[in-house]
Amino acid sequence: MQCRICGETDRLTPYRVREMLIGLRESFDYFLCAQCGCLQIAEIPPDMSRYYPADYYSMESHQQVPAQHTGVRRLVDQLLFLDAGLLNTVVSALVRRLRPDAYPVQLMPLTRDAGLRSFDDPVLDVGCGSGDFLFSLRAMGFTCLYGADPFVAEKIVRDGVTIFNTDVGDVDKPGFFRLITFQHSLEHVADQRGTLAAAAKLLRADGMMMVSLPVVESYAWEHYGTDWVDLDAPRHFYLHSLRSLKMVAADAGLVCRSIVPDPSILELLGSEQYRRDIPLRSPDSFMIKGREQCFTAEELARFEALRETLKPLGRAGRIMMYLSPA
Ligand SMILES: [Zn+2]
Repeated sequence: MQCRICGETDRLTPYRVREMLIGLRESFDYFLCAQCGCLQIAEIPPDMSRYYPADYYSMESHQQVPAQHTGVRRLVDQLLFLDAGLLNTVVSALVRRLRPDAYPVQLMPLTRDAGLRSFDDPVLDVGCGSGDFLFSLRAMGFTCLYGADPFVAEKIVRDGVTIFNTDVGDVDKPGFFRLITFQHSLEHVADQRGTLAAAAKLLRADGMMMVSLPVVESYAWEHYGTDWVDLDAPRHFYLHSLRSLKMVAADAGLVCRSIVPDPSILELLGSEQYRRDIPLRSPDSFMIKGREQCFTAEELARFEALRETLKPLGRAGRIMMYLSPA
């Protein structure tokens, strides 16, 4: 065995991990590399299609395209997403306090960390699925929106959003995008370096790439080990460390500019449930039955308290890394 990130052959700690999202309970070999810190599947299964059920995407998808914002909400969009300096900061804080559900959480850091300056800034979402993120941006007024996902059945052109049913390497728009996002998609890809390099070619010199994914430097991996819900065998080929992610990014000519912890209560609920041998999509899952039916009030209170401790880097099981051309 050899680490596919750094080439290490000796200091590899093996693990057996079960498929628990669907509940097949098949075991897969993984290993953790002591050199770069990456946890990875030992062999990529030749046929992954059986591990992606037909409704895989729709599970998290809002089936309806959100309507274009109007009135006050449109004004708030303008203030949030254009370079309005102090006003932007004040409005952001207000929206987060008064209407925390008004915007998808991942949209908020975009203004701050990706530095989008115009609604015409071109955005590409790699592994976009049915395009929820892109349609959310569309509703806010963004005009130049693309997605790439080889698992989408056919090319989609709808409401100003174009989704190519291809790998990112087949998107022919070199040096075009102001922002490229991988939102919990990079860990599903066999060729980490090739994929990041292909995406980097599509980025403008002043562009930003945002990669959100699960990371091993986390409470969830340390505490739950192979029951960690975001390990998600065999769909997640790579569970990066910050170090291993920076290594593959560097090979694509990208430098880490900032890292934002992005913890979720699901890390705790899902992992706890796997430990109890309940698959995420079984009828007994909290995803189906509801949290209150699956956990006691004391347990839920404990998870909520624990969630508060997951905010720092090194504790959060999910992060967003912002990268830009070196
Ligand atoms: Zn390694």
